[in-house]
Amino acid sequence: MKTFKKEIDMKSREEMEQFLRNHFRYFTANRWNGMSSYANNMKIYNLGLPSETEDKLYDMLEVEDVTWRISELISDFAMNHDYEWQAGWNGRSSGYLVLHTGGRKKLEYKSRCTKCGQLNYKNVAESGCKCGRCGNETRVNLTSPIYQPYTNWKSVDQDEDFEDWDMDELKERVQVVMDFDQLCDDIIAEAVYMANECDIEEETYYVEQTRKVLSPRVPA
Ligand SMILES: [Zn+2]
Repeated sequence: MKTFKKEIDMKSREEMEQFLRNHFRYFTANRWNGMSSYANNMKIYNLGLPSETEDKLYDMLEVEDVTWRISELISDFAMNHDYEWQAGWNGRSSGYLVLHTGGRKKLEYKSRCTKCGQLNYKNVAESGCKCGRCGNETRVNLTSPIYQPYTNWKSVDQDEDFEDWDMDELKERVQVVMDFDQLCDDIIAEAVYMANECDIEEETYYVEQTRKVLSPRVPA
């Protein structure tokens, strides 16, 4: 099984520069705008897995539980890096995981309806606690601000030769890219674990709906 994470000697400037310069890269957004960042080729056939595992993984990608578990790992990565570093899929069949820069912006909401979740820019003292959407008197002030993560699609270290970076800058960047490679390994390990330990079953489910029906009166 292929792994992406390499241990880099953080005392060696040479080794760190080479690691960053030679790391696999892919486009951050569209191919035509030419901007690229650190990435890994995560296509299933590229992972050196036994063919039964490969086949099972192709089927598993259609299972919501599986894609949800993988996206959890990706959001944890972003959270652990304060959203300054994020990872996202790109490529025609989303076969590449790409390292992105980003951040979080503070939203100006002051209150929220506890009944329907509607957010409001005014606090309760200004406008009362009646919700404008559901009409209930259930609006309360937020106790902490709400942040929304955003992703930049800019290139990262494209054509950078790192020669004028100091050691601390280099170490910091190498650490982020190593963490990103570790994330890729964690995703593969999680997917392989699910492929080996779980089976895919088909389940029929019914959605509850209401309709009007004619009901004959029972004679008194
Ligand atoms: Zn409401």
